[in-house]
Amino acid sequence: MDTTMSEVVQFIQENDVKFIRLAFCDIFGNQKNIAIQPTELTRAFEYGIHFNASALRGFLNVDASDLLLFPDPATLSVLPWRPAQGRVVRFYCDIRYPDGTPFEGDGRYLLRQASRRARKAGYSLTMCTASEFYLFELDENGHPTTIPHDHGEYFDVAPLDKAENVRRQICLTLEEMNIQPESSHHEQGPGQNEVDFRAAEALEAADNFVTFKWVVKSMASSSGLYASFLPKPLQNTPGSGLHLAVSITKDGQNLFHPSIEESEEGRQFVAGVLRRAAEMTIFGNPLTNSFQRLGEFEAPKYITWSHQNRAPLITVPLATGGKPNRFKLRSFDGCINPYIVFALLIHAGLDGIENKLELAPACEENLFTSSEAVRARYDALPESLCEAIRTAQSSDFIAKYLPEKMRTAFFAAKQAEHDRIALADDRTAAERQLYFE
Ligand code: GLU
Ligand code: MG
Repeated sequence: MDTTMSEVVQFIQENDVKFIRLAFCDIFGNQKNIAIQPTELTRAFEYGIHFNASALRGFLNVDASDLLLFPDPATLSVLPWRPAQGRVVRFYCDIRYPDGTPFEGDGRYLLRQASRRARKAGYSLTMCTASEFYLFELDENGHPTTIPHDHGEYFDVAPLDKAENVRRQICLTLEEMNIQPESSHHEQGPGQNEVDFRAAEALEAADNFVTFKWVVKSMASSSGLYASFLPKPLQNTPGSGLHLAVSITKDGQNLFHPSIEESEEGRQFVAGVLRRAAEMTIFGNPLTNSFQRLGEFEAPKYITWSHQNRAPLITVPLATGGKPNRFKLRSFDGCINPYIVFALLIHAGLDGIENKLELAPACEENLFTSSEAVRARYDALPESLCEAIRTAQSSDFIAKYLPEKMRTAFFAAKQAEHDRIALADDRTAAERQLYFE
């Protein structure tokens, strides 16, 4: 056992910890966990904790179903909303087969590989997420409704903004977990809110995003509300996006400093991401509902970039507000598996550098309001889940970076989801049933 593990064991012994949650994500990004007793922790570090992977959608089959969870000591965190006496802590885990080989459906493994590739090539990346979500009322049986918690709008204050206490709880809880939010506000939609984070290395940013969703859902629930990250929970109101800011350094130099115009590798990285944007869409916008968000209410649709305007997929802000220069990708939504999506984004950008891709000129037009003739100059993201599946299925890029078993399981599940919704008499009701509770 290395020192980190022994420090962790000591922490568990000295802090009245009674339950240890071993957490991970399935391939769709849903968090799962098992609680072990503290007596089992050293065994978990050494031999892993077994689970039945055939019981999880998209993992393994009954004929070969054994997988093991190995807690990552660096991810130890107390769950502040659980009792202070007899504490509960959580680790994110790496997943391996019984013979010790990494499980190819483990997103943390895929993201580690992508980060390793970046490091080997001399790049260091940080990511920061800004995530929107809706708060809805519960009905008398405790089930979610589609009645927004308030009618506040962008940056409103109480009493129009009824969510100030929930956001307060979310931010304070995250801070207790050593996850640093930067800001929080009421968003444009009724009941819609946003929390933005400080940048972290990619794996940590992905872990933090999974924790963030858990915290939001838990804090909403303890306030008698339902939090939804669905991309378009209400028609004719803004959707909820997950905006991802990426900054990259090489030899201590920021790739986007002083500007993308002056950085060949910065331009190549962004060109690489744009080139693969359509192929990545099934992972970044993974629900039938995702496609109702794109192209309206400031959610992008066209595969291009800009400095200032919010219509394109990527913005490269001129004003950094004292932060490292970065680019922001605005198309993803909060229903992703962040590990898989961040891994693909890193590979796409690095491929862009390796292949010395040229970045097309910035698009400074407002593509939400411009004519069809102007829009036709740009490629668009896939229009539907079905189109997104087909685009990814025929992509050499996706085939190169995602293991076959994992992507086959992902595509099959998404196709089934699409068919189920497409065949329903009332598609909105079918989506709500599938995605809401
Ligand atoms: N809600 C918009 C989206 O779906 C974004 C609005 C904003 O930029 O904050 O991405
Ligand atoms: Mg926003």
